[in-house]
Amino acid sequence: MKKVVISGAGGFIGSHLVDRFLREGWYVVGIDNFLTGNRKNIEHNLNNSNFELVTLDISVEQQIRIDAALIMHFASPASPIDYYKYPIKTLRVNSIGTLNLLENARAFHTKFLMASTSEVYGDPAVHPQVETYFGNVNPNGIRSVYDEGKRFSEAATMAYHREYDLDARIVRIFNTYGPRMKPDDGRIIPNFIMQAMEGKPITIYGNGKQTRSYCYVSDLVEGIYRMATLPDLSGKVVNLGNPEEYTVIETAEIIKGMLNSKSEFKFLDPMEDDPQKRNPDIKKAKKLLKWEPAVPFEQGIKKTIEYFRTIKNG
Ligand code: NAD
Ligand code: UDP
Repeated sequence: MKKVVISGAGGFIGSHLVDRFLREGWYVVGIDNFLTGNRKNIEHNLNNSNFELVTLDISVEQQIRIDAALIMHFASPASPIDYYKYPIKTLRVNSIGTLNLLENARAFHTKFLMASTSEVYGDPAVHPQVETYFGNVNPNGIRSVYDEGKRFSEAATMAYHREYDLDARIVRIFNTYGPRMKPDDGRIIPNFIMQAMEGKPITIYGNGKQTRSYCYVSDLVEGIYRMATLPDLSGKVVNLGNPEEYTVIETAEIIKGMLNSKSEFKFLDPMEDDPQKRNPDIKKAKKLLKWEPAVPFEQGIKKTIEYFRTIKNG
């Protein structure tokens, strides 16, 4: 039975990856220290004999030595609110944490997949964002702990690929949403759904004309699974996201409308260094992975609303 190690297994995306790999017949070792994750996300797998949970902080210098066929590195705070709260931990997990897992991969010549982000493009001057764009990142601003952390992780991953001939792959994930996001994690979709559901003001940072493109989590997991398991992708960097672009105000209007909510819009100060336009160019993913998102925004939002209703009611 093939073994996969998933760091960040108790988080939003990591827990969906655990489910997918178990379904595909893998033995899954999930690593998490639950800094921003939630045990509930993986509780349903704890009795599965093909699943093992290792509670560990990967950013503490230590030897992690697990012989596996694949390592998926997803541990890191991802919501801006989380990485503003844990700036040093964010830097550590994306530097020491990444190096720790890469050393583990080197020891057993394990295939390595790193979860990067559209944030490596910063506040992009090129639209849509294509993988060859180097980005526009403030190296010491409030978001830099995450942006530069992920840029370091990309550099480290490619260095192990070049120096040790490691089969290493990078996915640059654009805004993803769906069940298992925390209702209070601060990102736009959970914030707007919870605010609209509770009739509270919908908080819009800045003028709300900035854009994002939202990918439903099942689409993302499909893209990641292909990137991790298809042959001949070593050294490749691929964007994964949904190219349908919405302004923040449009996002608020759709969610408010779907919930028949009476919430008002409350305009607040803009977030520092908030990227103004974000939209993935996914030509490379279409070509290499034969992948593109299939879930329409309103359908994904409906499922996410159902999830938040379930956890609200107990
Ligand atoms: P999340 O916060 O829900 O999950 C991250 C998980 O990593 C959490 O369970 C957390 O406890 C764990 N973790 C953090 N530091 C750790 C450490 N030192 N040791 C062990 N575990 C640790 O976030 P998410 O949205 O699921 O994001 C997962 C990954 O995907 C992150 O690497 C993130 O950068 C990347 N990503 C996510 C998005 C998105 O839209 N959700 C977009 C781009 C990239
Ligand atoms: N945003 C907002 N109100 C909120 C949460 C987010 O206006 O309550 C905006 C935020 O300023 C950004 C976009 O929504 O322009 C996406 O923010 P999010 O925190 O989801 O993630 P980001 O893409 O910035 O990492």
